[in-house]
Amino acid sequence: MMERNLPETSQNLLLVGGGHAHVFVLEAFARRPEPGLRLTLVTKDVLTPYSGMLPGHLAGLYERDAMHIDLERLVRESGATLVQDEAIGFDARNRQVRLRSGGEIAYDLLSIDIGITPDLSGIDGAADHALAVKPIGDLLEKWDRLVAAAAGPDGPRRVAIVGGGVAGICLAFAAASALRKVGGAGMQISVVSAGASPELNSGMQERIRQALKRRRIALYANAVAVGVDERGVTLADGSLVPADAVLVSTGAAAPPALNGSDLAKDERGFLAVGPSLQVLNDSSVFAAGDCATMMVSSRPKAGVFAVRQGPVLARNLRRALRGEPLEFYTPQHDHLILIGTGDGRAIGGRGRWLSFEGRWVWRWKDWLDRRFMRRFR
Ligand SMILES: Cc1cc2nc3c(=O)[nH]c(=O)nc-3n(C[C@H](O)[C@H](O)[C@H](O)COP(=O)(O)OP(=O)(O)OC[C@H]3O[C@@H](n4cnc5c(N)ncnc54)[C@H](O)[C@@H]3O)c2cc1C
Repeated sequence: MMERNLPETSQNLLLVGGGHAHVFVLEAFARRPEPGLRLTLVTKDVLTPYSGMLPGHLAGLYERDAMHIDLERLVRESGATLVQDEAIGFDARNRQVRLRSGGEIAYDLLSIDIGITPDLSGIDGAADHALAVKPIGDLLEKWDRLVAAAAGPDGPRRVAIVGGGVAGICLAFAAASALRKVGGAGMQISVVSAGASPELNSGMQERIRQALKRRRIALYANAVAVGVDERGVTLADGSLVPADAVLVSTGAAAPPALNGSDLAKDERGFLAVGPSLQVLNDSSVFAAGDCATMMVSSRPKAGVFAVRQGPVLARNLRRALRGEPLEFYTPQHDHLILIGTGDGRAIGGRGRWLSFEGRWVWRWKDWLDRRFMRRFR
């Protein structure tokens, strides 16, 4: 395609959060810089974990480097400025973002990709006694401590995971691999699941049940966790799932940084975006990934959608800077789900009917994930 001679822009494009969608934006501006553009990334963490490889890393199959994208390098290559800080407020009226360290950053165009915060409400004591799986950076440190403790003679021997969604199931398989390796085959792993995840079709659910059995992971199905304390997980029927350590991978809540801003939100406080990924009430603000809800075609909060939004977001930010018409993002109706079972196999599926399993599925998943990561190296 022929490049037109466009006037140099003298605008500030501010990216907040180094999530899955923003790595595509940085990559796009590194490949094709926009003359005169001042590009800034504000992010809490300079290494962004790739969710597809997270369970494999927790299971001990991938080194930490292999599943992280180096934002510092992407920022350097795109000629951007890196501000390692946390956005704590969005002042849309004055086009400013407030930072944890004090001060504000002004923008002409803003894009937000800051993920979620765990929703521990409804589970008494979870904030004090359980490990939340988000943010992932914190989870990795907590996981290292858990694995180190499990290696000791007095360490945890019973670990429960609350949440039977894709992330919870992935965590259970990873826990069985990593913790039994250091703590011995007697390590008990349990999953507490309130109900089948709508993302998983019945074929996948059956395969997961069989794989959990094969890997000696106890499944408490239709079990609603209402409390966590030093004894384990208390269920709504009053029974106890005994555990020395508990991980919670249940609902997602909107990041607190969004509270108090005038930006349009859905009923749960996530940014409400239209098909162009612009926030509904402010055309100078875009949002993608888990922190945003697509109001006309809402999809589950999963990394795969943040990844798919990335290239569209990059093109739309460039178009917005140039004053060109924006393109629409239409999310796919369903998406491929691949779950490693930690024994050299994986379970896969898509939509309402398709499900499959085997060693070849793990090899395929591994190839897809490594290919994704190569793109950002
Ligand atoms: C155990 C586990 C397994 C999973 N497996 C899968 C899977 O197989 N497939 C799948 O599709 N999804 C999976 N997910 C879900 C996936 O992790 C998320 O959907 C995905 O990370 C969302 O990407 P994101 O870009 O919205 O945000 P994130 O990846 O969470 O990135 C947010 C970024 O913003 C930064 N940030 C946050 N707040 C601020 C702030 N206030 N200011 C500045 N920076 C900030 C963070 O440091 C981070 O870099 C899994 C999740 C877990 C926990």
